[in-house]
Amino acid sequence: MLEARRAVQNLKQYHPPLSGRIGLRLDFNESTRGASPRVVERLRKLSSDQLARYPERAPIERMTADFLGLNSREVLLTNGVDEAIHLLCQTYLEAGDEALVVVPTFAMYELMAASTAAQVISVPTLADFQFPSQRLLGRINSATRFIAIANPNNPTGAVADPTEILRVARAATHAAVLVDEAYFEFYGQTLLSRIRTLPNLFVARTFSKAYGMAGLRIGVLVGPEEQLNMVRKCASPYNVNSVALACLPAALADQEYVECYTSEVSRGRERLGAKFRSLGIRYWPSQANFILADFGPCAQSFVAAMSRRGILVRDRSSDPGCAGCVRITIPADQQMDRLLATLDETIRAMPTAERSFA
Ligand code: PMP
Repeated sequence: MLEARRAVQNLKQYHPPLSGRIGLRLDFNESTRGASPRVVERLRKLSSDQLARYPERAPIERMTADFLGLNSREVLLTNGVDEAIHLLCQTYLEAGDEALVVVPTFAMYELMAASTAAQVISVPTLADFQFPSQRLLGRINSATRFIAIANPNNPTGAVADPTEILRVARAATHAAVLVDEAYFEFYGQTLLSRIRTLPNLFVARTFSKAYGMAGLRIGVLVGPEEQLNMVRKCASPYNVNSVALACLPAALADQEYVECYTSEVSRGRERLGAKFRSLGIRYWPSQANFILADFGPCAQSFVAAMSRRGILVRDRSSDPGCAGCVRITIPADQQMDRLLATLDETIRAMPTAERSFA
């Protein structure tokens, strides 16, 4: 009988709610504004011949490198950050190696690392989801080959002090250290330039969030040239499709669109925080396009009640240290009033006994 590798058989199933997402989707940190009109215009102009050809990544990779102020040998376009994580795990992890993952965090690090038969070591954040640098340093040993740090982190929105991240990277020169900057545009701080001084540091970015192109599946992995040559060996030459490649220059050219959306998000974040305070709901300060809030024992019923009113939010209560937590993506200005009104209405309609968060 055909059997999957033991590591694959032992993988936990990852089941994000991927179908029937009808309504205002504030459950996946996607942009509610969509992609720039310039991207849509470019899409309309795609020819059938362009679709018939295999994609050519190199010219767009050069353009992306220019945009980031790097040379193209330090940049690899990927099928979203998801693929970047996959490629790093394929390049550096072997059975028995150790991968350190700060938790709670984005599920893909654990999944991709565990699928290589490496041992995943979860390192819990400190109180209020603060970055556990001492704990991480304490878990580094000769078997450590991959360390994943989302900055800002998902689902918490917390950020780590860059000096602490660099300290971890310097203490684990035999490990690939990934700083996942999927939410960079909402935060503004980056470790990108440090790939030139730290030979084991990688930074990933995505066009799924602030650029509103999650459906196109395109991201970028940046790293020291020598290491990225190794990673490139594991990647398909056609990993990024030609539609995404055709659209990327238009997306990069419209920074005004990205800035407009990120400033809407930062206004929205303030408004949602104020609403939580007025309702007596605990939440954590976020530097990303979402907020994590504590609804206590009524988290699940709150998520279901919001969905009945047409707004999808994400129950994160089974993430480590997140009992009772729900993550809400910040919508653009246009949908913010609706979110706040629905939040009020949903909470008021809950039986008082269930409103134990207040
Ligand atoms: N990293 C983090 C921290 C994320 O939250 C997400 C999306 N939820 C991703 C990566 C995935 O990005 P992409 O769509 O580029 O694969």
